Amino acid sequence: MLSHRLIHNVSLGGRSHCIHCMHTIAWYDLVPVFSWIALKGVCRSCKKPISRLYPFIELLTLTVFMCMVIYIPVSYWVGYSIFFSALIVTIRSDLDCMLISRIATLFLIPVGILLSLWPALPITAPESILGACIGYCFLWVIATLFAYCMGKEGMGQGDLDLLAFIGAFTGPCGCWVSILIGSIAGSLIGLCYLAAVRPLHSIKIPFGPFLAFGALVFVFLKQPLLCFLLGS
Ligand SMILES: [Zn+2]
Repeated sequence: MLSHRLIHNVSLGGRSHCIHCMHTIAWYDLVPVFSWIALKGVCRSCKKPISRLYPFIELLTLTVFMCMVIYIPVSYWVGYSIFFSALIVTIRSDLDCMLISRIATLFLIPVGILLSLWPALPITAPESILGACIGYCFLWVIATLFAYCMGKEGMGQGDLDLLAFIGAFTGPCGCWVSILIGSIAGSLIGLCYLAAVRPLHSIKIPFGPFLAFGALVFVFLKQPLLCFLLGS
């Protein structure tokens, strides 16, 4: 709901309502996952479908924050709560309408740098700054090359903003790993999608959720991943 409001410039305050009939949603219809199942995926008032993204995002949020409580030291909870919340908002909005809000990415880069100074993140401030720069520049080069060679845009500005944001919260290392995992996961899902859906051309798959997924995997599996990647 927050990502919907950010993308559509709707006030962040006020009660939640159905996007079809504007009916205000009662508190008992706002219980994560359970309400969606109880309502069989349709609005109580107008019976129009409620996106499957709602229970998906609710389950993702629950999983991510449970993992945070279990695996992340308490001293980093504030930093990672901000990071994970913005990633989840981004995943939601990019899956929903292929848009990424700068409020949840670019505008949070200074916050990432400040948090690394505190330190509420396990990286130094130079690493945070370097991560943001590498993230943005690397994707900018890829996007420019792609546009030059293919004559069309392959990557949105939102993806550049997102990787810069990921870099500011995870450093250069997190940036590289996110892009690596994001590209592999994106290619696999893209190939499956191509195999299942025809005609083959003119499909657009958002890249943001895969980058965000890569960043989540990096944060939770940092040690084994680095050992694997560095071959030690
Ligand atoms: Zn409705």
